[in-house]
Amino acid sequence: MSPPTLQDALLRWFARHGRDLPWRRTYLPYHIWVSEIMLQQTQMDRVILYFNRWLDRFPDIASLTEAREQEVLLLWEGLGYYSRAKNILKTADLLCRRHGGALPEDHGALLELPGIGRYTAGAIMSLAFNLHHPIVDANVERLFARLFNLTAPVKEKHTHALIWQKAAELIPEGKARFFNQALMEMGALICLPRSPRCDACPVRNYCEAFAQGVVNERPIAGKAKEIIPITMASGILRHQGKIYIQKRLADDVWPNLWEFPGGRIKEGETPEQALIREYREETGFYIHGLEKIATIKHSFTKYRVTLHCYSCHLQNNDTTPVLHAAQEYLWISEDELENFAFPAPHRNLINCLAKE
Ligand code: SF4
Repeated sequence: MSPPTLQDALLRWFARHGRDLPWRRTYLPYHIWVSEIMLQQTQMDRVILYFNRWLDRFPDIASLTEAREQEVLLLWEGLGYYSRAKNILKTADLLCRRHGGALPEDHGALLELPGIGRYTAGAIMSLAFNLHHPIVDANVERLFARLFNLTAPVKEKHTHALIWQKAAELIPEGKARFFNQALMEMGALICLPRSPRCDACPVRNYCEAFAQGVVNERPIAGKAKEIIPITMASGILRHQGKIYIQKRLADDVWPNLWEFPGGRIKEGETPEQALIREYREETGFYIHGLEKIATIKHSFTKYRVTLHCYSCHLQNNDTTPVLHAAQEYLWISEDELENFAFPAPHRNLINCLAKE
């Protein structure tokens, strides 16, 4: 009996070992779309939790068109990269106006929708509609770098194009849904970034890096990403049993999320001095009685943020701010903080309050 082809080996392995994920139970276009958007930049375990919560609240595209942005942001809180949630809302609206409330079975039309690029369009076309479209994520890049012993970084232009081309050529006729998932799943479960499980690999006989003994040298490393450290201060302002929060501007980082005022610490400033200055600049408030609550570390895109967090009080009884860095403000009770969407570091700060 001849050995299975590379494709058959991958498909058989996926049929036996593919994970039972909520969106794999239906392959509905709406489920595939939402899951793929959530999976961008987010770990699988976390996505499963958020995906199930999302579907409980928004079971279909029509239900999204009536959603309030603040509710959607609150549901998304903790996933980060909030523009993804906003793009889902915008896309739902467009789908209802242009495509009869459904995702179009058309690669070009999908690419015109907010937040849907080449990868997500390919995922919807292949996973939801089982049409012959490739998808390449970091797992597929790593798998191919080893399978085909690619000797240039996977993000390098020609190598990247070659990987997409191979991903398209390899799809067996009529099997795009399972084959594309098999590639990604192999990268996620077997061909791991460090210590790939070659002993359990169904395509080891096809792997050029394994044959040549260079598995640990593939993929070839690309240029290291620039990391920018930032130090900031933020403060929870309390007055007569209430806490001050403000809604960020629509065109700023974390648009339309709520926050506690604060900002970057300038050279020569202590965190406390920075916070007093930031409060004055952002709200006109003079604050005092600063007490340290926590130091919170947070990473997003290329930034590594160290956030010094304080509680503080108003120097006088004037509770009306002059807003310079926000569109709206509220004085609320500590219990009400749960009802507003905050950026992750500010939510971490709220969690610190609960432990105090
Ligand atoms: Fe990856 Fe090892 Fe399989 Fe090659 S043999 S594809 S390196 S797990």
